[in-house]
Amino acid sequence: MLASIVLAVALTGHFAGEDVAQLSELLSIPSVSDDAGECDRATEWMKSYLESRGVWCKVLYAPEANGRKVLYASTVPELKNPDYTFVTHLDVVAAASAEMFKPRLEGNILYARGACDTKANAFCGAKALVALNGKASVGCIFASNEEIGGSTTKSVLDQGYGFPKKAIIVLDSGTKKDKIQYSCMGCSYYKVTAYGKAGHASLPEICDNPIYTLAEAAIKLRDNYPKREPGERKNCAAVTIISGGESQNRIPSEASMTVNVRFTEEDGLEKERALIEKITGLKTELIRGTPAACGDPASPDFLRICETAKKHYPDRSCAPENGRGANDMRWFCGFRGAIACLAMNLDGGHSDCEWCDVSDIGNFTDMLVEICK
Ligand SMILES: [Zn+2]
Repeated sequence: MLASIVLAVALTGHFAGEDVAQLSELLSIPSVSDDAGECDRATEWMKSYLESRGVWCKVLYAPEANGRKVLYASTVPELKNPDYTFVTHLDVVAAASAEMFKPRLEGNILYARGACDTKANAFCGAKALVALNGKASVGCIFASNEEIGGSTTKSVLDQGYGFPKKAIIVLDSGTKKDKIQYSCMGCSYYKVTAYGKAGHASLPEICDNPIYTLAEAAIKLRDNYPKREPGERKNCAAVTIISGGESQNRIPSEASMTVNVRFTEEDGLEKERALIEKITGLKTELIRGTPAACGDPASPDFLRICETAKKHYPDRSCAPENGRGANDMRWFCGFRGAIACLAMNLDGGHSDCEWCDVSDIGNFTDMLVEICK
């Protein structure tokens, strides 16, 4: 399989067959986020790729992810606070078919789960570390559960590695990139609970049914939470789960719903909790969430990153843009320097047709090297 890829590459000759063979090996590890064993295998693969090329690596264990492995690597041994931190991930979303873990090269296009989101970007980050080893101040967090919340990135930071001095470069993308995102939205889940008076369903007049109270609260949320127009980057809230009652002939004593909120404020976790509580009039608790993060789009480092990106990708606008999704820049809430989300030529993240253009590996890596040297 790999031999045939190398052969195909040797015939076209546009890019390094060695890179495609290595990347294909990484893509063939089915490191679906929920599979800690395969994610550990991808982490070990990356560690040995880097160590065999002289780059210092540290495997950490993430307590909030049942001790799964997560890799931090840097161009100087034990570099805790580099000038530049790459943030990327080695886990992928599930695939409809196991075939997606057999990388397929057609011309310059490599198809596989993770080719877009985001192993190809992570691979270029690793190549940049090799090129800059001993010559620049760069660290890289290779998260192993970004697609299910990203607590592995948090645990690297908690253990003292990877908070940068100048810039965070997020190597991650679900789609083709045109602009450069410098922020991401927060995402939180709240449990809203209504309490009532339980009793026999044949005697509703002497009970207080919390399901009605909860239903009214859901409607209040629909009507009173600030509205957002299509395309706007504003907060939004949605009821996603409703639960209550355990018996068909009994009015329960409580009912609850989950409300998912996406928000732009760095202190949004508590602000939004208080707002949901005020609108619904019901007890509202944070289940889990990650804050919003926002880099400084006017910082000289960010402007230089945009300029360098434009030089390497003249067809892209490379203009600054607020991000609407969530990625692992979420753990850098409070960082005041440059944050930039970058990706090579690729598309189709999470879809059944995920690809990257391997003829761009060299260009994308060169751009990262130029930014960090
Ligand atoms: Zn991703």
